Amino acid sequence: MKKIVGILGLSLFFSCVSGTDPMPNEFSFDYKIHTSLPSTWESEFYTIVGNLNEKIKIEPRDYSYQMSVYAWKSTASKPYQSQIGDASGASVSGNQNERYMVLEIPASEFDFAQLHRYSVIPHEYFHVYQMSLSKNFYDGNIELKWISEGGAATIESMYIQQYYGVNYIKDAQNQVNIAAINNPKIFEKYNDSQNEDPNYSSSVFMVLALAKELQKLNHTEEDAFKMIFKDFWLPNPTNGNWKNNFEEVFGISVENFYQSLSNYSSDINSVLPSETILIEDIFTN
Ligand SMILES: [Zn+2]
Repeated sequence: MKKIVGILGLSLFFSCVSGTDPMPNEFSFDYKIHTSLPSTWESEFYTIVGNLNEKIKIEPRDYSYQMSVYAWKSTASKPYQSQIGDASGASVSGNQNERYMVLEIPASEFDFAQLHRYSVIPHEYFHVYQMSLSKNFYDGNIELKWISEGGAATIESMYIQQYYGVNYIKDAQNQVNIAAINNPKIFEKYNDSQNEDPNYSSSVFMVLALAKELQKLNHTEEDAFKMIFKDFWLPNPTNGNWKNNFEEVFGISVENFYQSLSNYSSDINSVLPSETILIEDIFTN
């Protein structure tokens, strides 16, 4: 306790000198959960975010240490328009000044009790985590869809497996396009693969295949995913240099990895991770 007061005092002193807000010790979210959402969703939301904060800790950065989360049910017509304009769907979006998380939950997901109404939370949370690892990702200087979206969508499924006991990869991310094995480059850009990546199935396939290739190089499964989810982002890659970064972190060139995909069939079942893998074991170190 004493130590915390000391750190606080120091940062306050620093703020007097510099005239800027002190960076807090913890990343924080500011939740705006609209009344259109059922209270059961709201309480599950806080449970999920609590679990994620514990297992995938987002460190505060000088460029990003707090974020607002705007959540509502799609039947409410844009209740946060004055704050986020016409933003809809689910994303981490923003403007020059800030980023915010948008969670517009489709009414149909409640009607049909679809797990996506919950899985979207770890997905978007994970993008905030990626932003905390890489300022270039935060700034939009790297696209690389299959690693960024494939990573978020894989975490989404791992969360559902761990907490709901459902294999969401098999159930919802199984529409892998043949391009994932014979033309994987198109998954680097959103615009090049709009029709080949339903629910990011192909991007998830590539992430899971990379984890398999890393295990062939004697990394454990947990380590393989940690390398993809975390280590890849830490050197702060850009659209211009990510291929070097990829080879340094994974010990495989992008070209060789893309080649290796032709050894797989474009079937998500050929690359499934173990159902017992725990998120906390991936992010422990
Ligand atoms: Zn995403």
